[in-house]
Amino acid sequence: CRCAKYSGIVEDCCCDYETVDRLNEEVLHPSLQELVRTAFFRYFKVKLWCDCPFWPDDGMCRLRDCSVCECPDSEFPEAFKPHYGLSQDDPICQEGKPQATVDRTIDSKAFRGWVETDNPWTTDDETDNTEMTYVNLQLNPERYTGYIGPSARRIWDAVYSENCPKYPSEESCQEEKIFYKLISGLHSSISIHIAADYLLDEARNLWGQNVSLMYDRVLQYPDRVGNLYFTFLFVLRAVTKAADYLEHAEYDTGNLTEDLKTQSSMRQLLFNPKLQAACPIPFDEAKLWKGQHGPDLKQKIQQQFRNISAMMDCVGCEKCRLWGKLQVLGLGTAMKILFSVDGPEQLDQTLQLQRNEVIALMNLLNRLSESVKCVREMGPSVEKIMEGQ
Ligand code: FAD
Repeated sequence: CRCAKYSGIVEDCCCDYETVDRLNEEVLHPSLQELVRTAFFRYFKVKLWCDCPFWPDDGMCRLRDCSVCECPDSEFPEAFKPHYGLSQDDPICQEGKPQATVDRTIDSKAFRGWVETDNPWTTDDETDNTEMTYVNLQLNPERYTGYIGPSARRIWDAVYSENCPKYPSEESCQEEKIFYKLISGLHSSISIHIAADYLLDEARNLWGQNVSLMYDRVLQYPDRVGNLYFTFLFVLRAVTKAADYLEHAEYDTGNLTEDLKTQSSMRQLLFNPKLQAACPIPFDEAKLWKGQHGPDLKQKIQQQFRNISAMMDCVGCEKCRLWGKLQVLGLGTAMKILFSVDGPEQLDQTLQLQRNEVIALMNLLNRLSESVKCVREMGPSVEKIMEGQ
């Protein structure tokens, strides 16, 4: 049973829940899982250690799992490495934190052919090379880290109260509601990943699903589930709108077999006939920013999103910061694609994305797809257990 709660059209979108679930199951989830494992998509360039611009760092992370974990050098494609004497088994570690090794050995020449261009929706910028490192996302999954309490709470409170107010009143315009839903949908997805991969028994290092957490934080709130589906469709729309650009982008990592795999998974996803038949326009962005106040409103929301992006430097746990930064950059990239230009013809001519933006965009879509799958598969049984208690 899909439950009456989640049937019909996803609010503000152009597809219904059942179709989203089916497409995710048959097309999106399998291709995205394949895509994010490829060499091109698994290394994310990120500045992990910078000061919070809003308040002193009070990050308290209880578990060692907060740290971004070791990245075996042997994994790296030869073409990514510089040629100034680093041996195969000598990755440069983050000073004083051997358990938090990230790899700085990737050559700046890697991923040739990508432009360096600004994203007006975010503060993160891969052209700023100081102290940026590459992290293997496959080795640092988004999961429970023990990052709880006032520090985590303060970030979410600031995100919602200062930058993205909830909309109880009818006064909010559609754009503000959509902005709120995007953040809430991302929040739902983060919570689902925490609950799906939770440290159940610290002494035995036993990981698994925390059913009650998933229910308490997300499933008992139909709006949070709805916002997750909305965010998924919003990002999917951005990806399909930029399909021609993404198809012809440069995915060269020096490993022909891997690169062919990347291109083929990308094409499978972008031009899938099932997707095009069942949900050709998952979200209609053309209806936004209309009217006299459209441009001012866009500027205001853009500034609020930039604040949220800057706030990711205040997340007091490395792994949470990594995924927070990546997903906010991914969302900013989706907004850049959807709101920078009007028609698809113009998009073809004007769209310029950074390599990191594309990596963030596709990894975000994958995370959302995983969350939707999790809700679809676990939702009904979790609700049954919890409501029976
Ligand atoms: P929180 O999740 O902190 O929620 C705070 C309040 O926001 C809730 O009380 C509720 O009023 C409201 N709220 C909750 N969900 C929604 C929603 N979907 N829509 C609208 N409102 C909502 N922890 C990890 O273990 N692993 C991670 O990878 C991780 N990544 C994080 C990334 C970021 C950017 C941030 C800010 C935090 C991250 N955390 C992570 C911490 C985690 O999100 C929670 O803050 C923490 O687990 C404490 O949860 P909580 O029960 O206090 O509720």
